[in-house]
Amino acid sequence: ATALTLPALTLKDAVVRYDRLIAVDGVSLELRRGETLGLVGESGCGKSSVARAIVGLQPLASGTLTIEGETLQDVPPKRRGDLQRRIQLLFQDPAASLSPRMTVRSLLAEPLKIRKLHTPESAARIVALAESIGLGEQLLSRYPHQLSGGQARRVALVRALAAEPSIIVADEPTAGLDISIQGELLNLLRALRDRLGLSYLLISHNLNVVGRVTDRVAVMYLGQIVESGPTAALFRDPAHPYTRALLSANLTFDPSRRRERIVLSGELPSPSNPPSGCRFHKRCPLAQPRCASDIPALQAGADGRNVACHFQLAAEAVVRPQAMVG
Ligand code: SF4
Ligand code: MG
Repeated sequence: ATALTLPALTLKDAVVRYDRLIAVDGVSLELRRGETLGLVGESGCGKSSVARAIVGLQPLASGTLTIEGETLQDVPPKRRGDLQRRIQLLFQDPAASLSPRMTVRSLLAEPLKIRKLHTPESAARIVALAESIGLGEQLLSRYPHQLSGGQARRVALVRALAAEPSIIVADEPTAGLDISIQGELLNLLRALRDRLGLSYLLISHNLNVVGRVTDRVAVMYLGQIVESGPTAALFRDPAHPYTRALLSANLTFDPSRRRERIVLSGELPSPSNPPSGCRFHKRCPLAQPRCASDIPALQAGADGRNVACHFQLAAEAVVRPQAMVG
């Protein structure tokens, strides 16, 4: 494979643990070059832990991370930093990541200084990038508390781009923003992706955002992926009962589809003590006796879709009988 056809990033059989809690339990995903992949699920499902592992903030207990064809675990330790630099995290709460006593100008220069990449040329490049996304000269002398929410996100974005990454991991990038500012930020992210040849992993519980901006999506439940596929197909016709519940609880369906609403019973179980068999069986309206003992594998179905359910293969999803819908 040439560099252009290699996936931007491949995570294989990833396990993340915090002491005895297994937050991510065997997650595999592939981020293709130039795409935006969404990772969705309820809070506590492990999606932020996947993000932390990918950007190098949390070690993998097992599994591998491959960045543009190079597997991090296989390269000499002194090359790992350079490889990891190609992935930058866009923080959930930019205010918390911006030091309050630094001006925007210093904040933008800081990542270059940390990496000893600070030259007049690199500084000028960053200022030009900032200006191109609406952070003009007059903003550079301001402090974080003098910025609007949208401006703070832009500063955080330029800081993430300072190291010239090829992959951006964005964890809830629009959380806390007004709806119109959300739209502007999402358009900006898309424009930068195309202009700079970036690939994005977008982590969010906001399904309206994910449905709008991602090419493909993976759904997590209790540390595992239960369904993945092209966003349009998956949103139109979710196969896994959990995905259907998640979508029906969050999206505004047209009235003809309201009858498909699935309301989940029970609480999200603790990841430190996940249920046997299918981890979703205690809340699944379609559970059968075998679901309590047999673990469903993530199986490939039609249209690039994968589903982990004994009874809902993606290939069958299109023709599934109405009687099976909750
Ligand atoms: Fe529901 Fe069983 Fe499918 Fe799990 S395997 S999602 S419990 S029907
Ligand atoms: Mg989170």
